[in-house]
Amino acid sequence: MPRPILATVHPAAVAHNLGIARRQAGGARVWAVIKANAYGHGIEHVWPGLQAADGLALLDLAEAEQVRALGWRGPVLLLEGVFEPRDLELCSRLNLWHVVHNNEQIDWLAAHKTHQPHRVFLKLNSGMNRLGFAPPAYRSAWARLNVVPQVDEISLVSHFSDADADRFGAPGIDHQLLTWQSASADLPGERSIANSAATLRHAADAEVRGDWVRAGIMMYGGVPDHPEHDAAHWGLQPAMSLSSRLIATQRLAAGDSVGYGSTFLADAPLRIGIVACGYADGYPRHCPTGTPVLVDGVCTRTVGRVSMDMLAVDLSPVPAASLGSEVTLWGHGPHGSVLPIDDVARAAGTIGYELMCALARRVPVRVDGASSAA
Ligand SMILES: *Cc1c(COP(=O)(O)O)cnc(C)c1O
Repeated sequence: MPRPILATVHPAAVAHNLGIARRQAGGARVWAVIKANAYGHGIEHVWPGLQAADGLALLDLAEAEQVRALGWRGPVLLLEGVFEPRDLELCSRLNLWHVVHNNEQIDWLAAHKTHQPHRVFLKLNSGMNRLGFAPPAYRSAWARLNVVPQVDEISLVSHFSDADADRFGAPGIDHQLLTWQSASADLPGERSIANSAATLRHAADAEVRGDWVRAGIMMYGGVPDHPEHDAAHWGLQPAMSLSSRLIATQRLAAGDSVGYGSTFLADAPLRIGIVACGYADGYPRHCPTGTPVLVDGVCTRTVGRVSMDMLAVDLSPVPAASLGSEVTLWGHGPHGSVLPIDDVARAAGTIGYELMCALARRVPVRVDGASSAA
């Protein structure tokens, strides 16, 4: 029997969450953001859930090739654009739309030999200060692109740093939205500025919706503005469940410890379970004693340090638990139970995004609803 850890990917949840993005987006089209191998879920695993998307957004050229090989004929957008001139050949060949965020990318395009002109998304740096043209340079970049024969359509794009929260008592998008409005005001072209957080929190504003929203974390059931809101609030369903089993139980006497560093000391007799899941599976080592975990669908807590292959859980709320009991690290558990990934991430001092993306290669993945032969 294989080690009992298992990740289950739920494409139907992705389809459901995509539907929520679409509802929020009003009439705007929806990019399904599938970078980082679909936020760790596996592009091929979530594939059935992506089919209603209007386009796929990613940044790794190998992933762009993968979705074309899987038969995707719709729009594909490279969120960081090309990294070197020869990447443009792939864009021409596979009809990839790409972000243009610096002058070098315009130079490369102008020198690129292609029969098929490209659709590009010109990026404004509206305050995030990672990628994009500063507002004073945006218009001239547009004008430059507009006369490059290799380009046939220019769309406009920017990205929010604070769409998930209010800052200084105002929606965190306000300052960037003003910059965006003035920099893009009379430029033609389709627009895209909203990530998941902006799509959930601010899409009532037609300017925020634009022509395309970019739904990432919400498609996977992660909540961008957790803990202010939770998945139930937004109606999102987990796209990944991580489960394992108890491979041992122990009885601790008062004063006994568990795990490396003896960071947990029992103050009274305590029955604990040892779970076949550790940081080499992608479970965060930073999770302290008290991180929520389900045993047989009952919520309990981790105790002691997470080690490479194992972690320990308090069995007091589940006295019937024994060797082989099902443990849910996040996502769906037995008997209709759910442990939101955001709750585990919060205990670890991180965000659901990181946990999903960190799922380790050694964890076998099952696709919910797929035939076992697949
Ligand atoms: C990752 C990414 C997104 C999606 O962000 P979420 O918070 O996951 O919705 C949108 N736009 C760009 C440019 C990104 O890099």
